[in-house]
Amino acid sequence: MDELVIEDLHVAIGEQEIIRGLSLAVPKGEVHAIMGPNGSGKSTLAKVLAGHPDYIVTSGSVTIDGENLLELEPDERARRGLFMAFQYPSEIPGVTIANFLRAAIQARLPQGEELEATDYYAKLYEKMDALEIPRAFTSRSVNEGFSGGEKKRCEILQMAMLDPSYAILDETDSGLDIDALKIVAHGVNTLRGPDRGILLITHYQRLLNYIVPDQVHVMVRGRIELSGDKDLALQLEEKGYDWVKEEAAEPALT
Ligand code: ADP
Ligand code: MG
Repeated sequence: MDELVIEDLHVAIGEQEIIRGLSLAVPKGEVHAIMGPNGSGKSTLAKVLAGHPDYIVTSGSVTIDGENLLELEPDERARRGLFMAFQYPSEIPGVTIANFLRAAIQARLPQGEELEATDYYAKLYEKMDALEIPRAFTSRSVNEGFSGGEKKRCEILQMAMLDPSYAILDETDSGLDIDALKIVAHGVNTLRGPDRGILLITHYQRLLNYIVPDQVHVMVRGRIELSGDKDLALQLEEKGYDWVKEEAAEPALT
């Protein structure tokens, strides 16, 4: 089954349960958005999927094309075709984007297989043209002095080059100006297609003005409380999250 499937996932940090029975399936070919108020556990979900060691999965399952994701090391998850967009490194002075991406692709090749320079640059320029990224960009050092928009451009180019089956983009809420939002949107729209499932995590309804998702999920207090089509995002913009929270509230103890 070509799907990323999360079933009844529970995740704790220390004693505290952050994700409390979350289920979600992202088939290849679809773009799903997760929205939700601050602190609802969106970034925690992204980190768990990436294999961050601080987060303990206490129950539930995650599979990628039928394979158990949770027992794979982070690098094995990447080899299976999972891409996490928040994983761009901090600044790497002296390492150009071109060389950084080449190393990233080389690292995912089977043992003994070499990436030819000519093939690599042909692919790089093809992707850059598709994403409308100027050539000069790749000779800059990774993230050094980058604007928010340039960081996003680097991230999207990385995604294009790694060509993942499933991409998870945690668009944190701070510091995304309209240019950065548009770069992300253009990238996602260019890279969406039948061979890829995309999970877009955002606090911002505004991003969904540029990316029309197949499904929108609202996450409140560690689980998906409501799912719907793109119109749900508009409803959230209009009404906020409180009405979802009220419906999601646990029955009062009597
Ligand atoms: P969101 O991305 O939806 O804003 P987060 O996943 O960042 O939410 O956070 C969910 C909850 O988990 C918050 O209450 C936050 O304080 C807590 N949390 C997240 N990461 C950690 C951590 N490393 N240690 C302790 N608490 C954490
Ligand atoms: Mg977050």
